[in-house]
Amino acid sequence: YGDFNQKIDYVFKVVLIGDSAVGKSQLLARFARNEFSLDSKATIGVEFQTKTLSIDNKTVKAQIWDTAGQERWKSLNVVPFYLSQEHMTFKINRYRAVTSAYYRGAVGAMLVYDMTKRQSFDHMAKWLEELRGHADKNIVIMLIGNKSDLGSLRAVPTEDAQEFAQRENLFFMETSALEATNVETAFFTVLTEIYRIIS
Ligand code: GDP
Ligand code: MG
Repeated sequence: YGDFNQKIDYVFKVVLIGDSAVGKSQLLARFARNEFSLDSKATIGVEFQTKTLSIDNKTVKAQIWDTAGQERWKSLNVVPFYLSQEHMTFKINRYRAVTSAYYRGAVGAMLVYDMTKRQSFDHMAKWLEELRGHADKNIVIMLIGNKSDLGSLRAVPTEDAQEFAQRENLFFMETSALEATNVETAFFTVLTEIYRIIS
């Protein structure tokens, strides 16, 4: 009946970031529960799921954080003209508070774009900048081009992403949450690298 008293050697916090609708929540669902849903609801607020696995005979609990991506930016960028300065300051402060809480203590990050949406890839630099501004400098980062099952709709050549990853010193993988391609490998690569660094 499960290992109720299983000893946990390490807990690694990993954050998912990227525009909305790129498949962050489905990648997490696939990794944590081996589930996928085509009509997944937009993530509201912040949530996390855990998965316990074994690395080098140690028990590692991965705590994967998921959030509504682009919506957080939208709430700042679209400012109705009637908003007061005080209200704007409130929104910016709340954004900063949520953002720093999200990145606090993270030792890994999955930077996700949709390989059929060029814009979601072009935004990677912005997400990376936010990540580097908030996270530990030793954080392990994996660039992920998701939805590789939609090959005929590809808008981001593999080489473009490889080049970006190399320049920014990131791991890189193309995945499909739908077909369960490379999802475990991507998370496992990040977790193993974190383990290698801290042990
Ligand atoms: P999030 O906003 O980044 O969390 O994106 P979701 O995980 O909610 O996914 C957005 C939409 O893309 C949903 O309709 C998903 O079913 C779909 N989706 C996610 N991953 C894949 C994938 O690997 N392949 C395909 N074809 N669709 C996907
Ligand atoms: Mg989501």
